[in-house]
Amino acid sequence: MSENVVLIRYGELYLKGKNKDYFENMLKDNIRAKLSDISCKLYFGRGRYVVKEYAMCDENAVIDRLKHVFGVHSVSVAKRCGYDFNEIVELALSVMPDKGTFRVSAHRSYKKYPLDSLQINMQLGEKILQAKPQLTVDLHAPDYVLHVDVRENGDVYLYRDAIRCAGGMPYGTGGRGLLLLSGGIDSPVAGYMLAKRGMSLTALHFHSYPYTSQAAKEKAVDLARILGEFCPHIKLKCVSLTEIQQTIHKQCKPNYMITLVRRFMMRIAQRVAAENGCGCIINGESLGQVASQTLESITVTNAVVDLPVFRPLIGMDKDEIIEIAEKIGTFKKSIEPYEDCCTVFLPDFPLIKPTIEKVEEQESRIENYNALIDAAIENIETVEI
Ligand code: ATP
Ligand code: MG
Repeated sequence: MSENVVLIRYGELYLKGKNKDYFENMLKDNIRAKLSDISCKLYFGRGRYVVKEYAMCDENAVIDRLKHVFGVHSVSVAKRCGYDFNEIVELALSVMPDKGTFRVSAHRSYKKYPLDSLQINMQLGEKILQAKPQLTVDLHAPDYVLHVDVRENGDVYLYRDAIRCAGGMPYGTGGRGLLLLSGGIDSPVAGYMLAKRGMSLTALHFHSYPYTSQAAKEKAVDLARILGEFCPHIKLKCVSLTEIQQTIHKQCKPNYMITLVRRFMMRIAQRVAAENGCGCIINGESLGQVASQTLESITVTNAVVDLPVFRPLIGMDKDEIIEIAEKIGTFKKSIEPYEDCCTVFLPDFPLIKPTIEKVEEQESRIENYNALIDAAIENIETVEI
């Protein structure tokens, strides 16, 4: 009797030396949590994990969930049988197509199995050729590779294909970062990229209600929810910039609007980061994409914070960013129409090359600068995703 199982491979954790247990345990916890509402059994062997005893109708869900667990490099749906060679042959025939070229690739972690890997390759290959005469062997570039995995627990797994998953490092092993999450295309991708390296995320969204709509805020919540598929327990903090923007609008030169708003954003972000155990700020800036993302603009906004600011998209083109957004499922939501707080009181000619001296001179016109920041932070709304 054979059954289907899902084999899970992890990648880079191998490099982690003495810390490997820590990374592996986090990965196991994350897999357990992700599959917690699907009836199945999990086996965590050395170098490979197996999901067993699930209902066939849940198989796609199991695979889809695992695609959302960072640290999982790839999965394969395999047929499981016992050590009996006839049973292995029978199963191999059910897995293999009738035509084309193939090779058998056996791996034996149970070293006492009576056939070694080479013998399994040859003997199983021969049986397949006898039963399916339109197949031929090609050891170098076959159409199909039949993997045979002889495990120590009495199981043998047969499978052909591997499904690529997200890869990266287990979520929760890379510190915590504060993601500046707008409703646009870029910032969810920026968050995804650091979460993929194991960083836990807290998200921060700025709005200018009622200049920006309730729907614009909802959009950020929806994006955080999509990110939440990869980032368990992500929280979204929403801050109003309305009063700050009104004040800048009244007291400063119009073309400094965006630069000044962004410096407020960064100052608020640094405070929120400190209050939420975040060791860095993450944003979706890409060099030269808009006026606020020139080297000069970034220098001026970066100058108000001490925390490291990670910009994983800095060297990427828009089409490369969109490709990732589509892959992770945020793109469709991101292109829904919405207003961003950065578009409120938008000047006709935003500064492309601001200087710190001139920006500070504009800021000095705002007498209640710190009080504005305090008020914005006091009124933060937290949304649990
Ligand atoms: P995105 O597509 O992420 O909105 P963008 O190309 O529109 O980016 P900007 O509006 O200049 O670029 O914003 C640059 C970065 O600043 C964003 O990627 C995001 O990290 C942050 N940011 C912008 N607006 C907001 C906002 N309303 N709330 C939180 N962060 C924001
Ligand atoms: Mg934006």
